[in-house]
This record gives sequence, C-alpha cells and structure tokens, in this order.
Amino acid sequence: MTTVRTRFAPSPTGFIHLGNIRSALYPWAYARATGGVFILRIEDTDLDRSNQASVDVILEGMKWLGMDPDEGPFYQMQRIDRYKEVLAQLQDRGAVYPCYMSVQELDALRERQMQAKEKPRYDGTWRPEPGKVLPPIPEGVKPVLRFKNPTEGAVIWEDKVKGSIHISNQELDDLVIARPDGTPTYNFCVVVDDIDMKITHVIRGDDHVNNTPRQINIFKALGVEPPVYAHLPTVLNEAGEKMSKRNGAKAVTQYKEEGYTADAMVNYLARLGWSHGDDEIFSREQFLQWFNLDHLGRSAAQFDEAKLRWVNAQHIKSMEDSQLALMVKEFLDKEHITSDQRLVAICALFKDRCDTLVALAHWARAFYADVQVPVVEREKHVVSSVVGAIELLSNKLSKLSASDWTKEAIASLLKEVLAEATLKMPQLAMPVRVLLMGTPQTPSLDSVIALFDPQVVIERLKAAKN
Ligand code: GLU
Repeated sequence: MTTVRTRFAPSPTGFIHLGNIRSALYPWAYARATGGVFILRIEDTDLDRSNQASVDVILEGMKWLGMDPDEGPFYQMQRIDRYKEVLAQLQDRGAVYPCYMSVQELDALRERQMQAKEKPRYDGTWRPEPGKVLPPIPEGVKPVLRFKNPTEGAVIWEDKVKGSIHISNQELDDLVIARPDGTPTYNFCVVVDDIDMKITHVIRGDDHVNNTPRQINIFKALGVEPPVYAHLPTVLNEAGEKMSKRNGAKAVTQYKEEGYTADAMVNYLARLGWSHGDDEIFSREQFLQWFNLDHLGRSAAQFDEAKLRWVNAQHIKSMEDSQLALMVKEFLDKEHITSDQRLVAICALFKDRCDTLVALAHWARAFYADVQVPVVEREKHVVSSVVGAIELLSNKLSKLSASDWTKEAIASLLKEVLAEATLKMPQLAMPVRVLLMGTPQTPSLDSVIALFDPQVVIERLKAAKN
C-alpha cells in the first residue's frame, strides 16, 4: 500500500481562523490515523497580500494545536524555479501556447458574452489547431501562457465528501498558467507541488472545488495520476455567514489566549464537519484512532461559541490536575503572579466551575495576589451581626499549627464558631468567602481555607472590622 501523504496549503493573506484551521485538522488527522505523512506548504505567491505575521499565526496555531507537520513548511516563493522547469516541460509537450489577447480585448469579449447571456470564457483565439491561421502577433506585447485544456470529454472524480463529480471539458476554458513576466499562476503551482510532494489525498475547503477539474487536467497533461480529493463544506459563523476575518472571525491563536485547551479545540473542530456516532467529547488519541474520510459531513457546519465553551469545560474537568496546573500557571505567569505547589489542589477544587483556563486562573489568583472585594458584596454579606464570629474564627485559625492547617481541622473549627456564635453555616460562610475571595460563591469553605496561606486568611479576615 502506498503511504498516505496529505497537506495543508494555507495562503498567508490574513490571520487564519477556525474555519481555515479545520482544513488543516482533517489532513493532519488522516495522515496520523493512517501512519502517513502530513506536509505544510505556505502558498505565498500573492505578494501583495501575503505577510509574515500571517505565516506566524499559522505556525503558532498549528504548534499550539499539536498539528506538527512531518515535512515543511515549504514556501512556494522558494520554488519558482521548479515551476518554471515544469512549465518548460509542458511547453515541450505542446500543452501550452502563448496568448497575446490584451486586457481590453478580453474585457470586450467578456462583455459580448455577458450580453449574449453566455458564461464568460476565453474563446481560444490564440489556441493553435491544425490548419488554423493564428492572428498576427502584435508588436511589443508579451504573451501569457495558456494551458490547452481538452475540448472533449469530461473530468470525473469521486470526491470523498461530495461524491461523484462530473465536469464537461466544454465548460472549462484555457487557463492562464504563466503571466507575461513568466511567473506561474496559482493552479499550476498547486499541481506541481502536489506532484513533487507526492500528495495522495487533497483535503481542502470546497471553495476550491472549481479549481479541481482544471488541476486534474494539468495532472493528466503531465502524465501523473491525480490524488484523491475531499472538499470540505464551509464553516459558517454564528450569524450563518461564511466565516471570515472580515466578519469578525478571530485568529486561531486568540482562543489560546482566551483559555481554551488545545485538546478541546481539536475535539470541537473535529466535530465541525465529521462525526463518530454520537460522540461529542473525545480525546486527541481517540480522534486519531477514529478519523477516516468516510464520515465527513456534506453540509456546512456552523460555529457555536457556547458549544465550544462547553466542550472546553468537559476537557478541563477530565484533565489531570497536575497538567491543568501547568497550563494555569502560564496564565498566572503572564500576570507576574508567583504560584506554588498548591496550584494543583486549587485546580482540582475549582475546575468543575470553569469553562476556560482563564476562569480557572482567575480563581487561582485569589490565593496568590490581592483580592478586590466588591463593595456591594461586602455590604450585603459582611454585616455587623457576623463581625464577632469572623473575629472568633480568625482567632481560632491563628492558633492552628502549620501541620493542623487541614480541611478537617478547619471544618471542626468552623463548627465550633457556629455553635459559639449561634449562627448557621451560610451566615458565616458567605461573608468569609467574600473577604477571602471577593465572592460568596465558592466551593466548601473548609476546602477553600485549607488551600490559603494562613497569614493571608488572618489578614483578609481582619478587614471584617473596617
Ligand atoms: N492556498 C489555498 C487557500 O489557502 C489552498 C489551496 C489548496 O489547498 O489546494 O485557500
């Protein structure tokens, strides 16, 4: 069996968003699922629109999501000589011809065709045919090179998503494959690359489906069997429009900053156009075991941020606490907050109530940095009738030795205070939570206090009197 070789071939002309990165996920997963090779190719020939910042987001995003290429990144701009070489081969085979039609002539042709309600297409004026007399070559005009598309028959392929596709060659005109300055055009470069990189499966967005018959004809002219194609349906944004930077799509790396885990992103993106029964939550390993091209969805998938948050929450919940702590630490580090080994237990205690790492870091922050107690919470909970009990608690806590600073010891101490002050747990717990963490909604108070530095607790409880 031949080894599967897939590629992701982004154009670095804007920050890649979730819709784009999904076009990387499937070829990557297919290569991993089949023991194949995944290649990254940067299609940077559009010099006006390509930029390094976009390349950086591609590389950073893929690294974050763990979609490491086995080969590449290759840059098309570094392969121009190779394209010219293959172009010369096509010329030798008589598969291309020079066309001197000017832009004005082309516009006029298009105009005539539109008026006659025909599909605008090049009319073959300069295409050499046996017995045909070509127009005189205009002086001082540099020609483009056009590919001699077959005029008969059809291009047929079995698309892994769309099924059998049949395009009559009569619908395709002769594509420009080199500009007047000799630089090759997009569709031609893609074919040369896919051949040289021995791509077996082209998995890409269906905005390229119109290019495919043209590309297949170029493959054939070069005597190479075309790869298998899978054209993925569009990803729509929440408003139901095609996801694009212009209508507010975020760069994929933004999700890292917002506290999504790479595994949750992979999980969410995987489901955006592929399914494994009813499974919604799965690990990276499961996904790579299950993925194949037979369960790709045919209809457009719609991005749903609430769903993404939910998936993220599930991943956070099931993640190893120590692993989670490492991720949360990165967020704390960014704010110059020094954490310690307690962070693992803090993550364990709070992870169930967090749907992002940012939210978890926010909880953790209260243990390591000053807390702002909102005035409304303070006024509502730290009422004069509990100030005495809080002081009592503080006294008792201050007498606990370091080795007694445990959840159990703190729980029994809390009970003592409640009995002595004849209060119910919420009457004491709410204000203490507010003073310690700035909010009355926290996990059980004994667990929370046990994770604090005793000095910090005493200090924060003092504020009850102010
Ligand atoms: N460079 C193209 C894009 O970013 C993809 C081309 C391909 O996958 O064949 O849309």
